[in-house]
Amino acid sequence: MGTSRNRSILEPKARSLCVRAGLCAGLALLAAGQQPAAEPPAAQVTDARIDRIDEEEPGAWLAYGRGYRQHRFSPLTQVNRDTVEDLGLVWMRRLDVRHRLQSSPIVVDGVIYYTDSWSVVSAVDADTGETIWTFDPETRRRYARWSCCGGPINRGVAVYKGRVYTATFDARLVAIDAATGQQVWDVDTADYPSRVPYTISGAPLAAAGKVFIGNSGSEWDHRGYVTAYDAETGEKEWRFFTVPGDPSKPFEHPELELAAETWNGEWWKLGGGGTVWNSITYDSDLHTVYVGVGNGTPWSREIRSPGGGDNLFLSSIVALHPDTGRMKWYYQTTPGDNWDYTATQDIVLADLVVDGIERKVVMQAPKNGFFYVLDRRDGELLRAYPYGAMNWATHVDMETGRPVENPDAVWEEKPQWMLPGNIGSHNWEPMAFDARSGLMYIPTHDVAFFFALPEDYAETGVYSPRERTMNLGVASGRYRAKLIEEAPPRPESKGFLKAFDPLTGETVWKVRNKSAQIGGVLATAGGLVFQGDGSGTFSAYDSDTGELLWDFDSYGSIIAPPVTYRIGNTQYVAVIVGAAFAYYDTGKMLVFSLGGDAELPVPPERDRAIPEQPAMSASVEELDQGGKLYHQFCASCHGYSARGYRNADLRIMSRAIHDSFQDVVRGGLLVDLGMDSFAEDLDETETELIRQYIISRANIDREAAETR
Ligand code: CA
Repeated sequence: MGTSRNRSILEPKARSLCVRAGLCAGLALLAAGQQPAAEPPAAQVTDARIDRIDEEEPGAWLAYGRGYRQHRFSPLTQVNRDTVEDLGLVWMRRLDVRHRLQSSPIVVDGVIYYTDSWSVVSAVDADTGETIWTFDPETRRRYARWSCCGGPINRGVAVYKGRVYTATFDARLVAIDAATGQQVWDVDTADYPSRVPYTISGAPLAAAGKVFIGNSGSEWDHRGYVTAYDAETGEKEWRFFTVPGDPSKPFEHPELELAAETWNGEWWKLGGGGTVWNSITYDSDLHTVYVGVGNGTPWSREIRSPGGGDNLFLSSIVALHPDTGRMKWYYQTTPGDNWDYTATQDIVLADLVVDGIERKVVMQAPKNGFFYVLDRRDGELLRAYPYGAMNWATHVDMETGRPVENPDAVWEEKPQWMLPGNIGSHNWEPMAFDARSGLMYIPTHDVAFFFALPEDYAETGVYSPRERTMNLGVASGRYRAKLIEEAPPRPESKGFLKAFDPLTGETVWKVRNKSAQIGGVLATAGGLVFQGDGSGTFSAYDSDTGELLWDFDSYGSIIAPPVTYRIGNTQYVAVIVGAAFAYYDTGKMLVFSLGGDAELPVPPERDRAIPEQPAMSASVEELDQGGKLYHQFCASCHGYSARGYRNADLRIMSRAIHDSFQDVVRGGLLVDLGMDSFAEDLDETETELIRQYIISRANIDREAAETR
């Protein structure tokens, strides 16, 4: 830990590593083997300081969503509608990973703190990009296999009272001294039994003297919870479970009694789901923490909770007392979740005049396609307009507060493409709110998912859970492919940036992204909205009209939200870019300012043609078995039908990997890259059948490409 790495190839002028006087003195003493004297320590971020960010620190970005209210709106105006054409790259830093990158940097006192996908934290001079320290929490790489969606993820740190907090993909919460980069404490947040290990992808929230963190992976049979730790000591203060546990045991807290009445069957055996994997928001006006709760496990509600029920607190916003963890109120966006419709999307706080009454509101665009405005004192529903394409429901009944499901879209009876799909109309990519105009800038996508019951369950009415693999409770493999062939075609996938009025439901403008994979959003008082997308384009739009004013090719894939900050007289815009499959490249952080003229090196293009494959020896039956095993153990990272996912396309793996396939799959040869050993799951013969299946898939796709 504390090693300097990832030096930028554009790292410009030499500059002192310590940008603050107190920090320099402390480092000098440390180098001399002494304890630092009572210097003013770094990053003294307090609740009050975050609350006054707009008035007192317009140039800072102190918390995940900039301030506690999660507006992702900056009052800076140097980069504006008129000047943005001069925006250019000033420096970049490499992140030594090829994964998707979702990290949202924090900028305090001239220092940027950011993470890579293994939760390695870097503190860098926000002006020059020079390394101050790097901290590697040594996340266990084998946990990548327990990812819901193709590899490790981390969304960033919290900075608070001289500490930097990072949550790791192997479910630890680590406190680091902000001045020195040394570890202060490290706690295991997964101290609750589970069928497979818990992971964490979200950024922690630090507020009210505590650090709050949830966990990820409802799909992996988890029971969701959020835990509060003492920010100073790391001591566990309370835990709120989002779904009830085994009814033969006492309720861990009183709210679960209410929740348990809304469940049926033996849901606890597969955890029930409800992970708090992204959104935790602190309300300093009302001293409340709002947590966004995830989907049910399995997805299919008739398998999860036969006999029905709303399944509280799935897909809900839950308001908790930060000191005790007791619930103040909840609002369930999707009762009886049946579509992976999480309410883990970012929760934005504002004061709005609604129907002539001044309200303190919470706003959310959860996966289900409705945009909610609730009174944050009691959870009263004020607005619920659709913001994305949908066929699962027709509207929200404002009397009952419940969505009215579309009787023509019952996928258990008639397998079909559902909109929103499982990734939702909006996912974790944060939206931005301009309180002056009242407009929310939402990254949205219309991406359908084909829902059908699993083949064996459809035939027998009995669901057989599988060990050490996801239990989605929906059709997969060849059976699903056959149903898709018989169904109307899949609706086209599209990504949009929308300027949306939460009170009228009007989309004031929208632009279509180049990719259905869309990035988080930044809005500024300069009249600009910044967003990247999966094509690697980083764009700035006029916030009034949506007119494209500036764009930049990052030669990567941008899903992380950009941030902006000011050092001296210079406004910077920073965004973390993931490596795109099209290039041999790593992740990188790009930092822009007016007049910036650094050149971004163009990475070499990857040859994506499927190479000639080794000889295939398996029979049709064996390939079928190989395919089943592949989909059980490999598809969540390497893609359905071995068509590739993110950066792990097995159809193009080298002969060397083919030759060492057993060592890789069973021997853990590539565990440092996140490829765990599957020796507990697969014997040698099964492993070879998977390889044969990959060869067969590669041959089919190679032939198709040649005849095109
Ligand atoms: Ca999910």
